[in-house]
Amino acid sequence: MLGSHVGLSGKDQFLGSVKEALSYGADTFMVYTGAPQNTIRKSLSDMKIPEAKALMAESGIKEFVVHAPYIINLGNTVKPESFQFSVEFLREELRRTSEMGSRTLVLHPGAHVGEGEDAGITQIIRGINETLDPDTETHIALETMAGKGSELGKTFEQLARIYDGVIHNNKLRLCIDTCHLNDAGYNVKGDFEGVLAELERYFPINQIACIHLNDSKNEQGAAKDRHENIGFGSIGFDRLCAITRMKEFADTPIILETPYMSAEEGGKDRTYPPYREEIAMLRAGVFDPELHKKVVAYYKK
Ligand code: FE
Ligand code: FE
Ligand code: ZN
Repeated sequence: MLGSHVGLSGKDQFLGSVKEALSYGADTFMVYTGAPQNTIRKSLSDMKIPEAKALMAESGIKEFVVHAPYIINLGNTVKPESFQFSVEFLREELRRTSEMGSRTLVLHPGAHVGEGEDAGITQIIRGINETLDPDTETHIALETMAGKGSELGKTFEQLARIYDGVIHNNKLRLCIDTCHLNDAGYNVKGDFEGVLAELERYFPINQIACIHLNDSKNEQGAAKDRHENIGFGSIGFDRLCAITRMKEFADTPIILETPYMSAEEGGKDRTYPPYREEIAMLRAGVFDPELHKKVVAYYKK
């Protein structure tokens, strides 16, 4: 399954998300339940969920994932009110995810904001334990992080420590992000098999519930987290394309979060989503160095 992140806004709401995914030729997608950088959310009854589900059923989209907003930080031990807010918001996100028809909510584990790895991980475990209960239907997929700032979850070992502390850890999953793995120091380009072998020291491979497929603007180990378009970064097309063809991931949503491409239009700089062309390129299995030109031409016509 191959798709990209899509928006959720305007009058079409979630129905618009499904339409956007279909316009890219995708058979899966990832969505935020509103703006990724804030926690203002519409009520479920205003999100056009039945309409979106009908369109998915009609067009053969069987699975999609939801991403929690970036500002949730379960690792915060400094501001108790921000931790409590994160816990409550995460509970609502799990409910929204399940109502929308997905079983996977992708979450950045958290950042320790200066208090150190141990304090941060303990707090993340506490937060997840306050969120999950035995009848939670949705899984939380912890995302592998680049290790920028005080981000936690940059190693499989750290993620395993979180799993270890979570009571209902049968409801946890992983989301591996190829750009983040590269930036965290894993050799995605040269030895992805080795990266998976390292992961398997801690987790069975079937814990991977989602893959974020991104190239990286930076070298292995840069701890930066700047995504690049497929084939234009330090990981390169061949590796990323090979991941989309691995039999282990035949039923895993593979999601592009590559940057929009910019071009001047009427004297203004505008940006265009590259996903339709990137998906086509990955499906064809041939790198297209003219991708930018194609994307811009498509949206200008
Ligand atoms: Fe993410
Ligand atoms: Fe990601
Ligand atoms: Zn990222």
